Amino acid sequence: MPNLSNLTISKASDLLEKGEVASVDLTKYYLDRIKKYDEKIGAFLLVAEEYALKKAAESDERIKSGKKRGVLDGVPFGIKDVIVTEDIDTTAASKILEGFNPPFSATVIKKLEDAGAIILGKLNCDEFAMGSSTENSAYKVCRNPWDMDRVPGGSSGGSVAAVIADLCIFSLGTETGGSIRQPSSLCSTVGLKPTYGRVSRYGSIAYGSSLDQIGPVGKTVEDVGIVLNVIAGVDSLDSTTVDLKSQISNLKNMESLRDNIKIGVPKEYFGEGLDLEVEKIVREAIDKYKELGAEIVEVSLPMTEYAVPTYYLIAMAEASSNLARYDGIKYGVSAISNIKSQISNLSDVYFKTRGAYLGDEQKRKSILGTYELSAGYYDAYYRKAQKARTLIKKDFDDIFEKVDCLMTPVSPFPAFKIGEKKEDPLSMYLADIYTISANLAGICALSVPCGFTDSKLPVGLQLMGPRFSEEKLLRIAKKYEDVTEWKNKWPAI
Ligand code: GLN
Repeated sequence: MPNLSNLTISKASDLLEKGEVASVDLTKYYLDRIKKYDEKIGAFLLVAEEYALKKAAESDERIKSGKKRGVLDGVPFGIKDVIVTEDIDTTAASKILEGFNPPFSATVIKKLEDAGAIILGKLNCDEFAMGSSTENSAYKVCRNPWDMDRVPGGSSGGSVAAVIADLCIFSLGTETGGSIRQPSSLCSTVGLKPTYGRVSRYGSIAYGSSLDQIGPVGKTVEDVGIVLNVIAGVDSLDSTTVDLKSQISNLKNMESLRDNIKIGVPKEYFGEGLDLEVEKIVREAIDKYKELGAEIVEVSLPMTEYAVPTYYLIAMAEASSNLARYDGIKYGVSAISNIKSQISNLSDVYFKTRGAYLGDEQKRKSILGTYELSAGYYDAYYRKAQKARTLIKKDFDDIFEKVDCLMTPVSPFPAFKIGEKKEDPLSMYLADIYTISANLAGICALSVPCGFTDSKLPVGLQLMGPRFSEEKLLRIAKKYEDVTEWKNKWPAI
């Protein structure tokens, strides 16, 4: 058997194609690793062992009979547990959805399974994707494979921890305000938030519907491109998807961008609160682009200072609407069967179910969101936030007239200690300061590994590009990845 450690999609696909490894053996390799290491990492909420082996055997049949479906056929992957999977429990890491067995699969899952990819299981995250550390999971802690006392970031913490600990080849995460990029930065994976409308959210459990996007996490830029190519596209089941003539091309053997580009470095992203070591590492990465021939210009996005309040007002308002469907009647667990004696009317069903089975952060978002949407406060908070959002978007539209992309840190600090920020929501919200503007503006953005601090904690470089410029953005990221060694660094787990 060839060496299977830390395979990229292309390498795995080549081995499968040449018959050097069977998908069943590759799948077993990951299942064994999950058994061996995931107890201490906590990346998986559910391992679909039997299902994975059955699907892998089917893939082997196809490959043997010359009917390989493409680069993902036989390649095992993991799914953030806010994306629904038919007949495989999906909990959104919440007790309120414990035992929820979805009747259908999300469009992205159908697409990946049609391409032959093998579902290994469901990945840990913050409950309903609300959080920046995965500490809000109602089930278990997820640890950062680089330092087990630290968080992997969030909310897609399990998605990045599983990829960097080599418990799967790639994974899916979701973003509302940085939940793919921030954990990617903290764990040294490549993570992409696609443009709003690029990827169908049908079957993605909603948090903030005007912000949510599903995106890939991988070991390399090429892997992320390959997955994006499969999951992107218009979907009649999600009316926010856009029918574009120029879809993403098949990015296997992706070439880095040769043209000389102009990179904007927004000064607002290098101010107070940015860890000095992170700043140094990110600036060195930007200098590398200069060496490679790029023109670097300092730019300004003056609305940046309003991004955190604007984002949290909008996200909480939308969260309060989206969480309203968990009423103890339609989905998941219910106080009716579990706390029967305390139920005397319909309101009791709602209150007791939500009181007992939703987490603190989810209650906080729901209550604050309902408050700001109520008569008398709507104009002062929600409407104002929508106006600020338009101005934030305009900042980006203006800047992208002048530069090809923007480069910034992803997170103001490297991975923090488990428990360090959990009791202080405001300091947790500040972890998102550099990522949330891209969600508000609807543009695409990614995190690519760009180094380590002295205490060996990963740091990511953020690239932001105009709407629907993913392919160019990935090829710009690849330019850096090609000349640096970060893609070959693995945690000792
Ligand atoms: N930390 C942010 C929040 O809790 C972002 C989460 C996300 O992107 N899903 O809202």
